Amino acid sequence: MASIEEDKRINKKQFRDHLSTVNEEGKRNWIYPKKPSGRYYKARNFVAVLLLAFFFAGPFITINGNPLLLIDILNRKFIIFGVAFWPQDLHLLVFGMLAFILFIVVFTAIFGRLFCGWACPQTIFMEMVFRRIEYWIEGDAAAQIRLNRKPWNFEKIWKKTTKHGVFFAMAFVISNLFLAYIIGKDQLFQIITDPPSEHLAGLSAMIVFSGVFYGVFAFMREQVCHFVCPYGRMQSVMLDNNSINVMYDYKRGETRASVKDRYKLKNRKATLEDLGFSADESFGDCIDCYQCVKVCPMGIDIRNGTQLECVHCTACIDACDDVMEKINKPRGLIRYSSENAIRDEKQKILTPRVAGYSSILLILLITFVTMLTLRPDTETTILREPGTLYQELPDNMYSNIYNLKVLNKTFEDISFELKLEHPEGEVVSLGDVESVPAQNSAEGRLLIKLSEQNLSGAQTELTFGVYSNGEKIETITSGFLGPSNNNSSQ
Ligand code: SF4
Ligand code: SF4
Repeated sequence: MASIEEDKRINKKQFRDHLSTVNEEGKRNWIYPKKPSGRYYKARNFVAVLLLAFFFAGPFITINGNPLLLIDILNRKFIIFGVAFWPQDLHLLVFGMLAFILFIVVFTAIFGRLFCGWACPQTIFMEMVFRRIEYWIEGDAAAQIRLNRKPWNFEKIWKKTTKHGVFFAMAFVISNLFLAYIIGKDQLFQIITDPPSEHLAGLSAMIVFSGVFYGVFAFMREQVCHFVCPYGRMQSVMLDNNSINVMYDYKRGETRASVKDRYKLKNRKATLEDLGFSADESFGDCIDCYQCVKVCPMGIDIRNGTQLECVHCTACIDACDDVMEKINKPRGLIRYSSENAIRDEKQKILTPRVAGYSSILLILLITFVTMLTLRPDTETTILREPGTLYQELPDNMYSNIYNLKVLNKTFEDISFELKLEHPEGEVVSLGDVESVPAQNSAEGRLLIKLSEQNLSGAQTELTFGVYSNGEKIETITSGFLGPSNNNSSQ
């Protein structure tokens, strides 16, 4: 790990051409952030407890007997906040995703990476769960560094074994919850309680997910935010000078000088030139104590300005506020602010860009809600049986065979009745579909009979009405194949 003293020697502009977590040999600088404390940390703890409670309770919360959230990829069934989506609703999902992505863009343009610091599962689990376990077992940053430098003695072995054992147990719990969101709690319970041989795929997924979560929280840590998360990578196109970020007030803080240097100058033990300052230098409030850097879990110095690595965890705000209180200066040298607010003392939230994005978002949301509201409760498909032609019947009648599939998207069983509305003809059911269970589908076969006078050439369009409890719930069309020499339409 690069020490603070080493960092100080790095040219001030050099932070732009290297990553804080990679040293000059290309090896990883392990970050040992000091345990944070302060009002923002307390508030984040409170939010984290609420979100963790929601995350753990999520698979057990049901609406009309259905889970709050289910992403069942294998069965192609998705339930989002109690609303079920089927593969047939792909257009709705795409619209919903577009609206969600645009919401992220608008939110980020205004509030920067507020989500990363306060609500991202990676930050919450890393900083509020795993990091706390680490502090509890190995101590604060300085104790962790000392422990890692020690040879493998009894203390190091038991502490490391305990920490990684607890980490893996936590990762196992998270992986189970994650699976519960994907396959549903009932199926997860079956995997856990049935003999392992009956659910080899499920058990393998459980072990793989546990390994992935353990690797992420025990080893990868901030590297996930730096290299894996696409949201972090997209910051540069979403933020502007009015976006609210965790910012260092350079106008108030600069020129920074340590307490030691200030003491020397005050007591005429050194001149400004002796200490490397210009003759007309005037000092700001930053005492160059590096407390903001020591607590940063991303290993960056916020005084270098907005950086892609910053996840807005607010640890540096708390650390600097604490320093300011100790030196009798106002809090907020590092605070939530924007570049324009600090440079020009003007904060603008509703910029033309935000207004433009918000208008498009509103249109998308209205369209999405309208499409969702108008979505039929059933999805019926009637397709002529592949490979069959028309059948010629006595009395100038013709018939086609069809496959019928009815999908019930509601949370209740529904009765089903099909009527041929145009042209006049007869529907003969070859396998009765009289009701469709909730959130399920039913299949059957049909024979449609038309007389020659109702045919419109080789292809006749059929219109069906789908009825449930006597009420029409859907209109669908299909094609009827007849003889090509038929001229009854003329
Ligand atoms: S904690 Fe505050 S005073 Fe100390 S180095 Fe950071 S910005 Fe300067
Ligand atoms: S710079 Fe501050 S807000 Fe950003 S990650 Fe580091 S400690 Fe958190």
